[in-house]
Amino acid sequence: MRLRSRRRGSSLPDDCLFCRLYKEGDHVREGDGFVAIKDINPRADVHLLVIPERHAPSFREVGEFEPDEAKRMLEFVADTAREAGLEDYRVVVNVGEGAGQTIFHLHWHILGGHTAGLP
Ligand code: 5GP
Ligand code: ZN
Repeated sequence: MRLRSRRRGSSLPDDCLFCRLYKEGDHVREGDGFVAIKDINPRADVHLLVIPERHAPSFREVGEFEPDEAKRMLEFVADTAREAGLEDYRVVVNVGEGAGQTIFHLHWHILGGHTAGLP
């Protein structure tokens, strides 16, 4: 196993809000290396965020995830939506400031029900 797999990311996680919320946030769901939380500023009837334990700054670095880990992350998103009672929903990942990313720790928005614009 590569070093970064054991450390689950390495770029300044001490300063990262989502690294902190992974450890001590109010989780609606927890799994093996992933959590889901409610967005503090919801843009939809249901607005959840899926946060991986691994600190990757954005979706651009999704290759830092092991293949199995990346698959489990996608399944965690789908399972979280299903457990929230959603059948139809949107999954959004903002990549870079110009696309609206404000927290530079890869995360997935799940938006269900009435949606008031993109997050
Ligand atoms: P981004 O804009 O990076 O795609 O998404 C970041 C999201 O995190 C935003 O929708 C924002 O409302 C949410 N957010 C920011 N700070 C907090 C926080 O302290 N707690 C929670 N639960 N969500 C947050
Ligand atoms: Zn982080």
